[in-house]
Amino acid sequence: MNILLTGGAGYIGSHTAIELIEAGHNAVIADNFVNSNPSIVKRMNEIIGQTIPFYNIDVADVAALDEVFCKHKIDAVIHFAGLKAVGESVQIPVKYYRNNIDSTLSLLEIMAKHNVHTFIFSSSATVYGNMNNIPYIENMHVGHCSSPYAWTKLFIEQILADVAAVNSDFSVVLLRYFNPVGAHPSGKIGENPNGIPNNLFPYISQVAIGKLAELKIFGNDYPTKDGTGVRDYIHVVDLAKGHVAALEYAEKHKGVEAINLGTGTGYSVLDIVKTFEQTNNIKIPYQIVSRRAGDIAEYYADVSKALLLLNWKAKKTLADMCRDTWRWQTQNPDGYEK
Ligand code: NAD
Ligand code: UDP
Repeated sequence: MNILLTGGAGYIGSHTAIELIEAGHNAVIADNFVNSNPSIVKRMNEIIGQTIPFYNIDVADVAALDEVFCKHKIDAVIHFAGLKAVGESVQIPVKYYRNNIDSTLSLLEIMAKHNVHTFIFSSSATVYGNMNNIPYIENMHVGHCSSPYAWTKLFIEQILADVAAVNSDFSVVLLRYFNPVGAHPSGKIGENPNGIPNNLFPYISQVAIGKLAELKIFGNDYPTKDGTGVRDYIHVVDLAKGHVAALEYAEKHKGVEAINLGTGTGYSVLDIVKTFEQTNNIKIPYQIVSRRAGDIAEYYADVSKALLLLNWKAKKTLADMCRDTWRWQTQNPDGYEK
């Protein structure tokens, strides 16, 4: 199949493009580098040993998108393109609604014009909000979102459901990611946050390499096994393979399915620190500080639906996640060259 990956130069899209090509599909990428850069595409081409067709366009630009669909016979789309900084979305909500929703609407218009009916969407566990019991299961009520970013994901899920409701050819898979971490085992591509990282794994690896002095653990008084926050971390390569499985499922089915992509296991912040230290034989200095506003104590996925429908489950361990994160960090101490 020929797959268009919007946002395919980003962290998850770049890993997915590689897994798709390794599974025998063709990838075409559309990305405007708003949160990535051209050297990622160069490195992807090196890993895969071929040149992936690439378009530097804003996915919200209908005319530019139309050209891509005219040049390539696209069979399905995986829509990664979106802004994802939760804190920034609280400060500048219009930017997030504009980018994330407009890009989706433009894509839907051009897909309809070119009779493309298969849509895989990068959704997020944040759509479960802060009112649900754990583990999160797909048929739970969604909403009570904690940021404009999370609302964009939920609104886009609704838009896609509305489109599918009146278009019986449409096949949509809403992939609700838990916490993607790690990097490609080659060490050539990985997560490259701008400035000081907000997320735990990139923060720990920058402490490990000496760019940051110590990890600040946001609270040890949560009702969890050791008092620190618990999340379902999933290796980005497992996550990427989940997209290949979702695509193959979507080709054979119609309608809308929301599917969790996680491991089903929750680990605490202290679990991560300990495993990172043991796996990489390096010390992570840390200090306990107060809770971070908006954080939930603990959540992880129910992963039975992914196994049932996609015949997919995550295989990599927490040690794999820590080892690959560290390899990426040591081989690229300053991230990608600009
Ligand atoms: P990322 O920022 O690394 O990748 C997103 C890519 O989309 C970037 O390369 C960016 O340049 C591009 N982009 C954004 N808006 C665009 C536009 N209008 N036109 C063209 N390109 C555009 O993020 P990621 O971590 O790879 O996440 C991919 C998707 O998965 C996002 O939609 C994100 O919200 C979602 N998601 C990510 C996580 C996570 O923790 N990383 C968790 C849940 C969901
Ligand atoms: N966390 C932390 N220190 C940091 C970053 C994160 O203690 O510098 C904790 C955070 O409170 C949460 C867990 O690590 O319990 C995962 O946080 P992350 O931001 O990576 O993911 P999210 O909270 O968005 O699921």
